[in-house]
Amino acid sequence: MTQLTFDGAIENGPANPRELTEESAAGAKISWYKGRVLSHSSIVLYRTCPQKWKFRYVDKIPEKPRSYFSFGKSVHAGLEFLFANIVGGVPTLEELLANFRAGWLREGYESPQQEKWFFQEGERIMRGFYAKHRADLKNVFQVEFKFTIDIDGIPVTGFIDRIDTTPSGNLALLDYKTGKGFDKVRVRQEPQLTLYQIAAKKLLGKEVETVGLYHLNTLTAHVVPAHGPAQEEEVKAVILQAAQGINDQKFEPKPEPAGYCQWCDYGQICPAFTGREALRRADSNVPDSLGELADRLGRLDAKLQELLKERRAVEKTLKGHIEDKKAPQVEGKHFSVFHRKEEGSEESYLESKPKGDPD
Ligand code: SF4
Repeated sequence: MTQLTFDGAIENGPANPRELTEESAAGAKISWYKGRVLSHSSIVLYRTCPQKWKFRYVDKIPEKPRSYFSFGKSVHAGLEFLFANIVGGVPTLEELLANFRAGWLREGYESPQQEKWFFQEGERIMRGFYAKHRADLKNVFQVEFKFTIDIDGIPVTGFIDRIDTTPSGNLALLDYKTGKGFDKVRVRQEPQLTLYQIAAKKLLGKEVETVGLYHLNTLTAHVVPAHGPAQEEEVKAVILQAAQGINDQKFEPKPEPAGYCQWCDYGQICPAFTGREALRRADSNVPDSLGELADRLGRLDAKLQELLKERRAVEKTLKGHIEDKKAPQVEGKHFSVFHRKEEGSEESYLESKPKGDPD
């Protein structure tokens, strides 16, 4: 499982790293960075937008839950259960599914329909993975292997989803991914795997033979030979560069208004969007360009379709209830819902009205 977000003070480290900008009693300058630990995801975030890194890790302003995080975590927890229990014999499919259902994370979904779709997709993955792999799990050596290593004085942490032993006694690393598909080109270049490779070699004292990403939605493993020494050096250099930027408190925003900024939860408070731009973001009626308007319209249409779909499903259930009970209306806490018929039409529909509103 990808370690989604992790960055904080090391155990027994200082509670508030910002205090470390001050001079120590002895007058020596203490590094602001000291006592912090980085992860692959926090390094990627810092490189994408240092300001966002600060909002998340220094100011600790929480972001909205997201469906893809909940889904990914739920599926990973399901697989973890499978791997953790193979020592005493592979669990049954029923046990696997029961564990998946019990551990399902519900936050971040935009509608019950969306959650239902993801839940069914998760069950499909569990069934498919079990059918395909239950007989080939005997080489699993470690799952959810948590590491913290030192890279030139920078503590870096992470979780390796799965480490197998190869026939020659070396290691094969695998990270599970959900979502969009990918190919071996990405696996050959993926810095997360290079970091995992460095950590596994360092801590387990064995050679890494292969690294891979497993695409759960298609139950496909993309495995390549271990990354080379040049890639390892490159990843170390990137980590040191990010750590240096953080240490120097370089937290400038890197705005991409037509890109990732659109999904950034900190848009309203981001210094990159002040004045007219902040107003535009607060009241999205002030457009900036035709291209942005086109994108916004597309997103609104997609949202609208989803809402209409959800409305149709709710209306169907409610209609059945009203017809069964022959009730003229249904009372909610905030709304009343009525049965309506167009004049001269056999078609009926439901209409809602906020409570207390005059007709
Ligand atoms: S809105 Fe854009 S520039 Fe500002 S913090 Fe978010 S990602 Fe960075």
